[in-house]
Amino acid sequence: MGQPRNNPFQALLGLFMPRRCSACDQALMAFERSICTACLADLPRTRFHDDPANPVERIFHGRVRLEAASAFLRFERGGLVQHMLHRLKYRGDAEVGLELGRRMAEDAMHSPRFAQVNAALAVPLHRRKERQRGYNQSQLLVDGLREVWPLHDLGRGLLRTVRTSTQTKRGRTDRWDNVKAAFEVTGGERLRDAHVLLVDDVVTTGATLEGCARVLQEVPGVRVSVLTCACA
Ligand SMILES: [Zn+2]
Repeated sequence: MGQPRNNPFQALLGLFMPRRCSACDQALMAFERSICTACLADLPRTRFHDDPANPVERIFHGRVRLEAASAFLRFERGGLVQHMLHRLKYRGDAEVGLELGRRMAEDAMHSPRFAQVNAALAVPLHRRKERQRGYNQSQLLVDGLREVWPLHDLGRGLLRTVRTSTQTKRGRTDRWDNVKAAFEVTGGERLRDAHVLLVDDVVTTGATLEGCARVLQEVPGVRVSVLTCACA
């Protein structure tokens, strides 16, 4: 995976070039990790975690049964969150993914609604897309999250089998079947009886997360909760 943190060349470069905040581009202090103290204080937290009727929960109502669903931050056009997620997805900034994962964990892990979660799983990218990008941004969030929150690693418990789903001019049911068909469970035995925290970078329509949750729930005893870094 494209994690530059142990790269000796990067470390050497760091001696000469100041590390910069992934949100505001200001130079970081030695103790800061990827996001400066001022930006961390300014992050637009949703504070949704304890609310069973929060807007992320409502996205999934009547579609798929989830134990809990929430998002860490509010996505604002042109804001800090958009900037960081852009760096994570398109600029190879693995460090900001790890840091956001750690902060997501600190934010959500003490909520009673997430207390039962015992394993974490990233929404997969199609293999070809992951190869192009060099990493799966949601897996970086999970890696950071698990540094703080002691959840089992389900590794590649899910596989994305269809690269894109054409969702135009299809009926609702039809479209959902389509999304569900895009995922396949590979880690069936490891998943058995797990309460999975399904992690993605952003939730918008919820179709991808719904597709993942539905196939996971076909494994006996599996329960699913959802946590995303941001919600639109
Ligand atoms: Zn900053």
